Amino acid sequence: MDRPYVGRFAPSPSGYMHMGNLLAMLLAWLDCRAHGGRMIFRMEDLDPARTSVDYAQALAEDLQWLGLDWDEGYPDPAYCQSARTDLYADAFRALEDRGLVYPCWCSRAQRLAASAPHPGEAVRDLNCQCSRLTDAQRAARLASDRPPAWKVRVPDETVAVTDGHYGLYAQNLSREGGDFIIRRADGVYAYQLAVSVDDMRMGVTRVVRGRDLLSSAPRQSWLIRALGGTPPEYCHLPLITGDRNGEKLSKRLGSRSTQALRREYDPRVLVGELACLAGLLPAPEPVRPEELLPVFDWARVPTDDISLENFPGLQNLD
Ligand code: GLU
Repeated sequence: MDRPYVGRFAPSPSGYMHMGNLLAMLLAWLDCRAHGGRMIFRMEDLDPARTSVDYAQALAEDLQWLGLDWDEGYPDPAYCQSARTDLYADAFRALEDRGLVYPCWCSRAQRLAASAPHPGEAVRDLNCQCSRLTDAQRAARLASDRPPAWKVRVPDETVAVTDGHYGLYAQNLSREGGDFIIRRADGVYAYQLAVSVDDMRMGVTRVVRGRDLLSSAPRQSWLIRALGGTPPEYCHLPLITGDRNGEKLSKRLGSRSTQALRREYDPRVLVGELACLAGLLPAPEPVRPEELLPVFDWARVPTDDISLENFPGLQNLD
């Protein structure tokens, strides 16, 4: 039976939104509404040290200001990851019961494990030998003071996802991704586990987000299946870069926060600029999100990253 179409916004309140986030939110909304779907707004405030209530509130205001609405979600705590720890603990136990979880004392990857891995944030520890410890070695370490992080053991299996924009994307879980952290040493559940549990339990059928997370899709898809759920379809979008060399969006080149954009722009002007970046309009013109529904088509959206260099109006805002 076909599942109802459910999309989601899932930002992390670890800063103000920038152009890349806004484009992702706009396309997620258009994709969902074009399919008559239900939109969920989930707050990914998993890591107390890196997120704040003020940023969460600002994200909600940004979406409203842009004219992107949602049917359920924030500020209802049921849609805030910080209030969903019990569900992550259940999933953790379910994986543990199947013998898929083991403690890991390597430190490299742990700091970032609660956040989505964005470029330059490799979270894989290639030298980790923790899965090879004998029972006695493991017991001795567990009795020591240093708490471990917890990893899930992935099979030597190639998982393919058919991305709605980039097509077939296959990854051998153990050779390319490797076992990954699902709970940090400080007890915070990791991004990969939380996002998979949430997409599964919220009945999300369509995930639209930046292509820096495409490489996470096979492991999330596998994790959801391992937990007994049905994975969503994934549809990734290009990133916005500062220049043609693919330089990451920086403060200097248009990573301006929505706080600044809100002061200088009419939201319809910004939506028009974003729609033009996304190939939906030939030239920027003020437009409301719903006016883009008739022209929305993934075939128009580029697959190459989008350079702000081609959009001088958006660069020279400082
Ligand atoms: N919360 C993540 C971020 O802001 C996105 C997670 C996702 O869409 O899977 O980068």
